[in-house]
Amino acid sequence: MSTSVASTVPFPASTPDPVPLIDLTQQYQSIKSEVDAAVQRVFTNQSFVLGEEVSNFEADMAKYCDSREAIGCGSGTDALILALQALNIGPGDEVITTPFSFFATASCIERVGATPVFVDVDAKDYNIDPDAIAAAITPRTRAILPVHLFGQCAKMEAINRLATKHGLAVVEDAAQAIGSEFRGRRAGVLGTIGCFSFFPTKNLGGAGDGGLITTDDPALANRIKRLRVHGDSGRYQHVEVGMNSRLDALQAAVLAVKLRYLDSWTEGRQRNANWYTELFDRENLNGVLELPRTLKDRRHVYNQFCIRVHDGLRDQVLQSLRDQQIGCAVYYPQPLHLQPCFAHHGYKEGQFPVSEQLSRDIMALPIFAELTLAQLERVVDGLSKAVASCTSTSAKSLPKAA
Ligand SMILES: *Cc1c(COP(=O)(O)O)cnc(C)c1O
Repeated sequence: MSTSVASTVPFPASTPDPVPLIDLTQQYQSIKSEVDAAVQRVFTNQSFVLGEEVSNFEADMAKYCDSREAIGCGSGTDALILALQALNIGPGDEVITTPFSFFATASCIERVGATPVFVDVDAKDYNIDPDAIAAAITPRTRAILPVHLFGQCAKMEAINRLATKHGLAVVEDAAQAIGSEFRGRRAGVLGTIGCFSFFPTKNLGGAGDGGLITTDDPALANRIKRLRVHGDSGRYQHVEVGMNSRLDALQAAVLAVKLRYLDSWTEGRQRNANWYTELFDRENLNGVLELPRTLKDRRHVYNQFCIRVHDGLRDQVLQSLRDQQIGCAVYYPQPLHLQPCFAHHGYKEGQFPVSEQLSRDIMALPIFAELTLAQLERVVDGLSKAVASCTSTSAKSLPKAA
C-alpha cells in the first residue's frame, strides 16, 4: 500500500457531541455520596411513607419558601387537587386559569368537579393576563389559578388585588417555580395556597413523583393533611373522603439533600440564560428569534428557557436542531382550551390569540446548570445555522416582488 491513500481519502466530517435538552447524571454524580447515604438511611429504617424524613423535609421547604406550613404529597397534580378540595371548590364553581400551561393546571379543576375558565396570557411573560381575569369573573368564580410559567412569577399583585376585591382564593401553580420571587417574596407564599412538583425534570427533582403544598393558613394546612390520608381525622374516623397522596420517605430524603444545592443550580441556570443573551447578540439572532424577558421585580429560575421563533419557522428550526443533535422541545404545542377532553366547554380556535400564537412559536433550549460554555456556543451556533438555512429556503420559495 502506498501512502497516497492516507493522504487523499478524507476523514468523515467530525460530528460534535450531542447537547441534551436535560441531563441529570452530572448533577447526581456531584452529590452522589450524600444522596446514596440518605437512601441507605431510609432502607435501614424501613419507614417508607411520611414519618420523620417527610416532616423534616416539610420544615426545610417551609423555611425555603418562608411559609408557615408545608405539606408533602404524591405529585404536583395531587397538590393542585388537594388545594382545590381544601378550599371546598367543586361542582358549580368556576376557577379562572391560563390555557398556556401543562395539562395538570386545568385537569385538577375538572377533577374536583369545578369548571376551568380560561383567559389569555400576556405575550411579555407568557403568564395569565390580570385584565383578562377581571373580565372573566362571574358570581360563580371561586378562585384564580395562576401558573408561574417556565420559572417566572405571574403578576401577583394585580391578581391578589382582584382576589381581595371579589373574595376569591388564589392557588399558585408553582410546579416550575421553586425559589422564584415576586418583589422579594417566594413562590408559594404569594397567594392562598402554593403547589409544587418534584417531578425529576423540575428545578428540585426527586427520584420519582412527588409534590408539596405551602400555605400560611393553619386551618387549611390541617385540612390538607387530613385529605392526603383518606380524610382520616385519626383512629380510622373518616370525616370526609380524601385521597391517598403522601410523599414517600425516600423522596423526602433525596429532596432534602438536593434542596441544599438548589440555589447554586438556579444560579447556574441564570448564568446560562445570561450567556444565551450575550451569544444571541453576537450572532445577530434577535430578528427571527426572541429571547424570554425577565420582568422587573422578578427572580426567574428558568425551569425552561423558551425562545420564540417568528415567521412560522419554528418547526423548521426545531428539525434542524434535531438533525444537529441539539436537544430542544415544545412546551406547549396545544393550548389547553383546545384539548379534546375540554371540548364540552365550547372554546374555539382563535379565542385566545396570544396563547395560540405562543404554542406555534415557542421552543425550549437546554438550560440545566451543568452545561458548559462550549455547549451553549454549540446550541447558538446550531440555531444560527438553522435560521440561515430556513431563511434562505423561504426566500427562494417566495414569489418575486412585483
Ligand atoms: C409538572 C407540572 C405540574 C404537575 O406536576 P406533577 O408532579 O407532574 O404531577 C403541574 N403544573 C405545571 C405547570 C407543571 O409544570
